[in-house]
Amino acid sequence: MSRRYRGHMSGERYLADTNPEMHHVHDLDNEKTECQIEAILRAGLDKPFFTRLDAGREGFTRCDYCLGESSRE
Ligand SMILES: [Zn+2]
Repeated sequence: MSRRYRGHMSGERYLADTNPEMHHVHDLDNEKTECQIEAILRAGLDKPFFTRLDAGREGFTRCDYCLGESSRE
C-alpha cells in the first residue's frame, strides 16, 4: 500500500489521524500494517499533509511504526 487518492487524500505523503485518542501522523511512503491506514480512511478521520513539520505544527505526533526513531527520515 502507499499513497491514497480517497477520502481527504490526494496523493500527499503524510496522513494524520484526527481521532483525538490517536492524533498521529503517518508516512505513507513507509507505511506498516500497524498503521491501520485503511481503518482511518474508513472512519473518515484522515487529514493530508505534505510535510511532517506541518502536521507537527498542528499537534500531531509521529507514528512509532512508520516514523519511529529507527526508520529513515
Ligand atoms: Zn504509521
